[in-house]
Amino acid sequence: MILTTAQTNTGVRRKGWKTTGWQGITVQTPPDWSLVGYGGDAKSGNVRVDNGAATGSALGLEVRWSQVKGKITDADLERRLEPFFKAVAKGARKQKGLAKTETRVLTDDRFPERDAVRAFGWRADRKAVGRLWHCTECGRLCIAQVVGSAGGDFTGTANDVLASLECHSSEAGWRTWALYDLLTQVPTDYALKGPPQLMNIYLQLNFQRGQSLDTLSVEQWSVANVQLRGAYLDEWYRSKNGVLEPTLRYEPGEAAAHGHPALELIGRRGGLHYWAGQAAGQVMKLHRPATHFAAVLWECPESNKITLVQSLSRSPQPDLVREIVERTPCH
Ligand SMILES: [Zn+2]
Ligand SMILES: [Zn+2]
Repeated sequence: MILTTAQTNTGVRRKGWKTTGWQGITVQTPPDWSLVGYGGDAKSGNVRVDNGAATGSALGLEVRWSQVKGKITDADLERRLEPFFKAVAKGARKQKGLAKTETRVLTDDRFPERDAVRAFGWRADRKAVGRLWHCTECGRLCIAQVVGSAGGDFTGTANDVLASLECHSSEAGWRTWALYDLLTQVPTDYALKGPPQLMNIYLQLNFQRGQSLDTLSVEQWSVANVQLRGAYLDEWYRSKNGVLEPTLRYEPGEAAAHGHPALELIGRRGGLHYWAGQAAGQVMKLHRPATHFAAVLWECPESNKITLVQSLSRSPQPDLVREIVERTPCH
């Protein structure tokens, strides 16, 4: 048999594997895999994680999801695989080759909320091992496949990656966001806002609560020692904060995060800057402006990182910021 979907999934979480979390999807992958692409939102979107290798040893996971209404049966899943397999066959013909495809029902007792699950595999110029399922908890239909070279032997890895996939958090109300070395959890009513900044030494995720003006951000800087150059965290924060800084009035306080001393800032946003610009328009539109500010930042010498969680909201919420800090491990 050329395809490998018949192998049982162990669901083993391999030591040293890392978590990627995106729009409610979480997955464990080998440590050299990282997020390389994403699109859409929590309702309909995709994410891609791969090992960044050149063609021959390239190996990666693609996940797509979409919200579907009503009940989904196994026959529905099979029907949805047809156009997918057709596309694989078409791609193979272009390469003057043949595609082999295979699918079967999969039972996975660990996820009773999945009312229909199929395993599938295909082989053409490349090879894939995948899963398709519908989840009654998050209402999404998810298709996930690990794709690698046709001659590669990656079935064990692929099955462990696929078995680790979860489409919603096991803890109601919280969603895990994890990429590269950053892992954080944010309430589910906050959606990702705008494209994240994903740089070698700087990661930034911005969130917005529904249609309100409440926003949250989680930021992480690598090479903290170079960032700080001996400066205190509060000085560094002020110098980094750019346009926001002149609009803020806050009291710095001492806090702790993951065993490190942390700086907590609680206050208000106001001042000419803010009222003359954005907020005046918002008041006209009867949107309550987000004038309450709370932030916690800390340096982690073990990982040489600085992490900053901040919130602008309509009512004070320092507790929410502290809770997110708790859920953002640094070392
Ligand atoms: Zn789900
Ligand atoms: Zn730390």
